[in-house]
Amino acid sequence: MKELAAVASRPGLSKTRFVAGTQCHLRLWHDTYARELASPVDEALQAIFDTGQEVGELACRRYPGGHLVAHDHHHVREALDETRRVVEAGTVPAVFEAAFTHEGVLVRADVIERLPGGGWRMVEVKSTTRLKDVFVIDAAVQLWVLRGAGLDVRDAGVLTLDRSYVYDGERLELDKLFRLHPVHDAASARLDDIGSDVRAMHAMLAKPDAPEIQPGDHCFSPYPCPYHAHCTRDHMVPDHGLDELSRLWPGHRTQLDAMGIREVRDIPDDFPLNRLQRIIRRAVIDGRAQLFGDVRAELARRKLPVHHLDFETFAPAIPRFAGTRPYDPVPFLFSVHTEREGAPPVHRDYLHAGEDDPRPALADHLLEALGPEGSICTYSGYERQVLRGLAAALPRRARALRALEARLFDLLPVVRNGYYHPDFRGSFSIKRVLPALVPGLGYDDLSIADGQAAAARYRQALESADPVEREVTFRDLRAYCKRDTLALVELCKGLLALKPSRVA
Ligand code: SF4
Repeated sequence: MKELAAVASRPGLSKTRFVAGTQCHLRLWHDTYARELASPVDEALQAIFDTGQEVGELACRRYPGGHLVAHDHHHVREALDETRRVVEAGTVPAVFEAAFTHEGVLVRADVIERLPGGGWRMVEVKSTTRLKDVFVIDAAVQLWVLRGAGLDVRDAGVLTLDRSYVYDGERLELDKLFRLHPVHDAASARLDDIGSDVRAMHAMLAKPDAPEIQPGDHCFSPYPCPYHAHCTRDHMVPDHGLDELSRLWPGHRTQLDAMGIREVRDIPDDFPLNRLQRIIRRAVIDGRAQLFGDVRAELARRKLPVHHLDFETFAPAIPRFAGTRPYDPVPFLFSVHTEREGAPPVHRDYLHAGEDDPRPALADHLLEALGPEGSICTYSGYERQVLRGLAAALPRRARALRALEARLFDLLPVVRNGYYHPDFRGSFSIKRVLPALVPGLGYDDLSIADGQAAAARYRQALESADPVEREVTFRDLRAYCKRDTLALVELCKGLLALKPSRVA
């Protein structure tokens, strides 16, 4: 514990900053001196942070009698002193948020666990279900600091959620919900590099100016960098860049880069592209849509009445309902627009406003809304996956739910195999396809504009004690889901209205 008392001021590096520094020194420099240059945290990212907090708190319950060092980052000295006292007293089996520092690096270890034979195990808690390489770096820098600070660390692990665990609806079994991945050997093998990396980062941070580093692939691995918008602010954005070429083979990308080609329209005629890539290139060069499949014939396969269906789901990291695993998607809202011959579409939906399992009531409303006949039109295979999940979870309704599967009609392959508009910009997501085919119909007027935000808002509404806030959120969610199925109605109309003159 030689360094615990030796800290006079806040160290310049933390484990988070160290990991940022391994990705890019400029990112570390920004994290240290210019946080305001980061893009704002959006709802989806905030939801990930909240999940991490929730999982971290639950993980502590695996260590009964453990002691939490609660001092925050404004009270580093107090956190270090308290950690030292608790560790030296030797009376607790585990310490949470234990604070250590070594050579100007401060870490807060999620858990240190006293081992029966002496020494400690360091445990890093993650809310994912898989062990990633970056977690080993995370563990290695902590190991380096804890040992440097004099703690006898004999083991190290990363605790993740275990996707094979199925909640019985009664009691969370923490020993099965979590899985400990041993990383002691892998982290130890990196210790020599940690010291030199730390010194290089300190030297870089001591300079008056930010390092000059150009953006590249490293900006997205292991994490998307929050400074990307800032770093690329002066970059000329291609009109239709090579990223719009679906599934471009990396070797071909390298070849095009070497040829100095940045625009799809500049790709030579004889360059080896697959069929869809050639169509994309032609659409960009001609500046107009390409109709290359028999979209009408495909749509004619639908049987009346046509029900346009969309689900909204949320995926709790910690299972809440019987029979679910960590991150199983649970539908809480559906929207259906039903089209009948010669009549305007009729809308129905169901949002589960209670905190109990939404699936039984949602399935009953769904079966009623979809009736016994007609095609069920979706965009992507996600609704099929949700229907299968519902059938597996609800044995009494399973037969009826499985029968719905046979009626599904996926619009996505119809578009992907038959039509391309330059405004798709390489993506066939409904958010790209819709404005190109149905100008004026988008999501800009809605307060919820994507599925991740919908899931995050639903969870917030359930947790809110304010009934007005709940109602407003529920209304916004229903409006968003309704727009998704109205989009399908209009998309079909748009596809049926395509004129032969637009054929490539
Ligand atoms: S955007 Fe890229 S170059 Fe800029 S700080 Fe982030 S990782 Fe570094």
